[in-house]
Amino acid sequence: MIVADPGWLVRLSEIAEKRGPWLVKFMVAGGENLTEHSRKFIESVWQTKVLLSYGQTEAFGMIGIECPYQQGYHLNDMDLWAEVVDPDPDGYGELVYTTLRRTVMPLVRYRSGDVTRILTGACPCGSRSVRLAKLRGRADELVVDVGQAQAQSVDLGLEDDADLIDLAAEVQPRQPLCDGIHLAIGAGERVVQRLHLDGVRHLGEPGCRAW
Ligand SMILES: [Zn+2]
Repeated sequence: MIVADPGWLVRLSEIAEKRGPWLVKFMVAGGENLTEHSRKFIESVWQTKVLLSYGQTEAFGMIGIECPYQQGYHLNDMDLWAEVVDPDPDGYGELVYTTLRRTVMPLVRYRSGDVTRILTGACPCGSRSVRLAKLRGRADELVVDVGQAQAQSVDLGLEDDADLIDLAAEVQPRQPLCDGIHLAIGAGERVVQRLHLDGVRHLGEPGCRAW
């Protein structure tokens, strides 16, 4: 098995696609976002599943991990109690968790800063543990004045591109009633060139816009 950052796995898979992969039972990726298209690319190269994990340093490691059905993170509910506060109509809000067994530096309703929702119903694997949906982004990445869009909601027309590794959006107040959005894009060279060529169509002219 291989455990790695998603960006590193994408690069390794590009090399393995050319040179040939070796036998891997499964892969675990965590630490940053992995688009579903990139996941499919990695899985097609290695002919195995990529399971995503979710954790925070403050939680002392892993908070949850996907099972082979890849339908949300199974929460480590022996150690953590999870809540989602101020959910939107789809149930997405900030994850807040409480440590259950830690005696040194316990956390009580700790604000993770991550936006997700709690999945209801049993997983096909049979586990009854609480599951968290794939993260939508950071709570402090909310884009104000455009209806609470997270980074993943900023449509660059790149979501289906295997070279897109990660995307983060940050509001930068510039003038009254007009905020700018700073986009940080982790991507391969081909996406950078595509953004450069298609930038006007995807990003629009600089200025005060609403959508
Ligand atoms: Zn499961």
